[in-house]
Amino acid sequence: MLIPCLACESRFGPDEYFRACSDYNRGMDLVSWTCPRCGNRDDLRVLPGELGFGYPHRGRFDVHARVRVPGLRRHRGDLRLDISLDRASWHVHTRLRQPA
Ligand SMILES: [Zn+2]
Repeated sequence: MLIPCLACESRFGPDEYFRACSDYNRGMDLVSWTCPRCGNRDDLRVLPGELGFGYPHRGRFDVHARVRVPGLRRHRGDLRLDISLDRASWHVHTRLRQPA
């Protein structure tokens, strides 16, 4: 199972891909992803069995493209998102922000 970068079309194994996730935004249910190859930064939503890509729109995130990742699971914590696939798991932490 390889997961593509939607900008440069490089493909990554799950470990390399999910280690490039950072900054879980719990309110929008998004993680940031920075492509290790081209440096493109994308926001994506981890869903059961797939990844959702899209755009923020009026305070929501509209998913426009989905990449199927069979067996992908997620668990939302207060300050982190746990992602698991097969026997591997990754933790994406929330970057704490000062209230505006
Ligand atoms: Zn890329």
